[in-house]
Amino acid sequence: MPKVLVLGEIRQGELRNVSFEAIAAAKQVAKGGEVVGLLLGENAENLAKQMIQYGADRVLVSEHSDLQAYTPDGFTQAVLQVVESEKPEGLFIGHTSIGKDLAPRIAAKLKSGLISDAVNLEVSGDDVVFTRPIYSGKAFEKKVVTDGLLFGTIRPNNINPLEKDEARSGDITLVDLEIKNLRTIIKEIVRKTASGIDLSEAKIIVSGGRGVKSKEGFKVLQELADALGGAVGASRGACDADFCDYAMQIGQTGKVVTPDLYIACGISGAIQHVAGMSNSKVIVAINKDPEANIFSIAEYGIVGDLFEVVPLLVEEFKSVAVN
Ligand code: FAD
Repeated sequence: MPKVLVLGEIRQGELRNVSFEAIAAAKQVAKGGEVVGLLLGENAENLAKQMIQYGADRVLVSEHSDLQAYTPDGFTQAVLQVVESEKPEGLFIGHTSIGKDLAPRIAAKLKSGLISDAVNLEVSGDDVVFTRPIYSGKAFEKKVVTDGLLFGTIRPNNINPLEKDEARSGDITLVDLEIKNLRTIIKEIVRKTASGIDLSEAKIIVSGGRGVKSKEGFKVLQELADALGGAVGASRGACDADFCDYAMQIGQTGKVVTPDLYIACGISGAIQHVAGMSNSKVIVAINKDPEANIFSIAEYGIVGDLFEVVPLLVEEFKSVAVN
C-alpha cells in the first residue's frame, strides 16, 4: 500500500482548491495506503484540518519563519527533508505558478522523473497512468512512471476533490525543518489585482478581447461575471491595448484555465488564446464576425454585438437568480 505525500498550497491565508484535488488524486494512487498532507507557511496549522476533511490521513505542518512566503530555495529544502523522513512512494503538488517552479527543482534534487500538468489519473494494474495536455491542448498524452518516485503536478479544476467530511480526524504534526542559506528572500508582496475569484480556479470565466474596446467596456463583463459568480479574464489583445491588467491574460503566455463555463466576448480565437482555455467544459462565444475562429471551438455561439448581447445576459441571469 503506497504512501503519497501531497503538498498543499496556501494563498492569502487560505488553502487553494487544487490542494484538495491533489489529495483526491493521491487517494486513487494510494489504493488504501496513507495520504500525508504537507503544509508550509503562515496559518498552516489552522488550515491543516481542511486537508484531513478532504481526505488526507494526517498532515505535517511547518510555520518556519523562512517559509512564510514561497521561495524556491526554502520550499525545496523543506519538501526534500520531509521526503527524506517520510519516504513516500508518491508526491503530488498543484500545477500552479508555485508548483511549476518547485516541482522540477525537487525532481532534479531527488533525481526522479516528474509528470507535470496532469488532468487525469487512472490506476491500471500496477501502473498509474497520467493524462496531460500537449501541443497547447490540441492533444493529450498518457504517461506512466517507470522507476522511482511517482511524482506529478495536478492541473487545477480537473480532478474532482472528495466530498468534505467535517467529522474526519487525523494527526496534525509540527515538523522541525532546517532552512538555511536562502539565496532569495521575499521582502514584500505587492498584489496587482484586488480580491476576487482566482482565475485558475474559477468555475465560470467571462473573458474579453480587443472587441471590448476600452476599460469601460470591461465593466459590462464584470457585471456578467458578478451575476454568475465568476471571474473576468482577457485576451492578450485586450491587455496590450491597456483595457485591463496582464494578470487577467489567458493563453499560451498567460494563465491556463479550465472552468465549467468560459464566455469569450469580442475575442477572435487566436491559437495562442485558445491554448489557455480550450479545455473549458463549455465555451460560449459572442462575436460580431460569424467567421471568427472562436466559433470553431465553442459549444454555443452568438453572432452579435457584445454591447447588446452581454447586458441582455446580465438582465436574464439576474432575474433567474431573483426568481
Ligand atoms: P482580435 O484578434 O483583434 O479580435 C477581436 C475580436 O473582437 C474580433 O474577432 C472581432 O470580430 C470581435 N469584435 C469586435 N467588436 C466586437 C463587438 N462589438 N462585439 C462582438 N465582437 C466584436 N493572445 C492571448 O490571448 N493570450 C496569450 O497568451 C497570447 N500569447 C501570445 C504569444 C505569442 C508568442 C504571440 C505571437 C501572440 C500571443 N497572443 C496571445 C496574441 C494572439 O496572437 C492574438 O493577437 C490575440 O489573442 C488577439 O486578441 P483578441 O482576440 O482580443 O483580438
